[in-house]
Amino acid sequence: MTNKDEKRVHQLHLFTRLYQNIIDGVAMVDAQGVVQAINPAFSTITGLEAADVVGLPMPLLRSPQQQEITQEQIWAAVQQQDQWHGQLWNRRNNGTDYLEDLTVTAIHNMHGLLTHYIVAFHDMSSIGKDNETLRHTAYHDSLTQLPTRKLYQDRLEQVLAHSERSQEKFAVMLLGLDHFKPINDSAGHPVGDQVLQIIATRLRSALRDSDSIGRMMGDEFGIVVRGVDRVQNTVHVARKLLAAAAEPCLVEANQFVVTASIGIAIFPSDGDTAEVLIKQAYLAMGRAKKAGRNTYQFYTSAMGVEATRRVLLEQSLRRALEQNEFIPFYQPKVQIATGRVVGMETLIRWQQPGIGMIPPDQFIPLAEETGLIIPIGEWILRESCRQTQQWLQQGLGPLQVAVNLSARQFQKGNLLLTVERILDETGLAAQCLDLEITESLMMTNVDQAIRILKQLHDKGISISVDDFGTGYSSLNYLKQFPIDNLKIDRSFMGNFAPGSDDVAIVRAIISMAHSLGLHVIAEGVETEQHLNFLRENGCDQFQGYYFSKPVAAASFAELLAQRRCDEIG
Ligand code: C2E
Ligand code: CA
Ligand code: CA
Repeated sequence: MTNKDEKRVHQLHLFTRLYQNIIDGVAMVDAQGVVQAINPAFSTITGLEAADVVGLPMPLLRSPQQQEITQEQIWAAVQQQDQWHGQLWNRRNNGTDYLEDLTVTAIHNMHGLLTHYIVAFHDMSSIGKDNETLRHTAYHDSLTQLPTRKLYQDRLEQVLAHSERSQEKFAVMLLGLDHFKPINDSAGHPVGDQVLQIIATRLRSALRDSDSIGRMMGDEFGIVVRGVDRVQNTVHVARKLLAAAAEPCLVEANQFVVTASIGIAIFPSDGDTAEVLIKQAYLAMGRAKKAGRNTYQFYTSAMGVEATRRVLLEQSLRRALEQNEFIPFYQPKVQIATGRVVGMETLIRWQQPGIGMIPPDQFIPLAEETGLIIPIGEWILRESCRQTQQWLQQGLGPLQVAVNLSARQFQKGNLLLTVERILDETGLAAQCLDLEITESLMMTNVDQAIRILKQLHDKGISISVDDFGTGYSSLNYLKQFPIDNLKIDRSFMGNFAPGSDDVAIVRAIISMAHSLGLHVIAEGVETEQHLNFLRENGCDQFQGYYFSKPVAAASFAELLAQRRCDEIG
């Protein structure tokens, strides 16, 4: 054994001792949710022995008591954020209830694949607090000290019962913070937590004592405002809350500005149960976010119609996938210096029977929200690789195909494996594949993005930043990422009047990108003037209606064959 090996074995030994002797219950759970091992404290706390749980699905909630969160919601949160932490009531094997502080963490292997979960819990009753404090802890969020979702809902029910009798109007508001996640990602969770605490305190003090506020989850708060006989009163409170959220938060000498979006539902006109009022307020909050954030929206019945439309759209999207209604279109990418077609970008279309061709802008956002983008994205990637390989074999190359990736495909964890498998199945060389990602995708989880992109890049796949110039646009930041190409967003293809902003921006992007060793591709090139300007300024490639619109596979093959003929002839 080398010195290093010995050290590792010793470390492993220490970890095992720790696991055996720690007073917290710990279970190791596989990716399917099945328990693989538990430590002694697990049995001490729950009264369940290894024989009772190993090999079976992990029972996160053993108490039949109505809780503010379900087992499914906890697993879903872990899938999305890699971790869930909170306090809940659980039941020992002997039937007694106890309060536990539970953490569930997802474990990934070096390829980013989710392999295990660690479930760890602390028996809070062992701390020896009296029941009163325990109740408080159970119904108040430990970070913000605000009521939990459960307590908030209880209070809402109370107000509801009272108002039903008195016919007093009241407002249910859902307040979500805008762009809070990037703070967690860039400054770290401890800083994000402090920002949340500051804002929670401010929101509480912006309300009257007769109003209620609770933390629904993460960065969302529920509010009940009483005595709102006039719309103006509600608007006044909403504005006050927005102003309270938007004030800069000072944490460790750094300033963070977080705005909020508020959705409002009114009793009794928008609903007469807690469930419906909360649902409508959520819909309205979604609308406020769409309206540009830092604003409030009242629920309208049109939102209900909109929600129904989305449910229908989601159903037809699922069917579309099963019935092969998606079609790849290809738009040529041209090398400016030589005029040669060097590759193409795949742009998805949806041929909906009886309706016609639907452009991606009308279904990709919903596919992203519902997670359907994962199978759709995988399909379009496989189809692009298969088709490109076929054209290469027909002598229509050299070609590189560019495929758009969504953030969700990145967070799924097995992107690298999917891409490797598709290249393997289709026989396409990694060098013939380019993946287009947006700046916001890169910035949502910087470390994860760098890690996955490096792995893809090491395989020989090239990476392009799409829509460049519309997001963070920090070239300095981009240096950390393994990127080959920048695609200048089509919104910069104006008329390039001398002295205009577009002229300055496009020139600056090209020269800075070149100094970082990146290729520059201009999108949305519609006129000869655009092309001339780009050529003069050293842009490498272009894409746009001036040369060709995105076209179906057969037309693209014709276009390629024609070009190759021209070149030979
Ligand atoms: P994008 O990646 O920025 O794609 C370029 C868009 O510009 C395409 O719109 C293309 O048709 C359009 N375009 C190309 N040349 C010109 C031009 O000269 N002038 C103008 N005005 N527009 C031009 P399209 O096909 O509607 O796609 C819209 C967006 O949908 C894409 O923007 C991309 O973000 C997304 N998308 C398309 N296919 C996929 C896909 O397979 N997966 C994912 N995740 N997103 C996709
Ligand atoms: Ca693109
Ligand atoms: Ca683009």
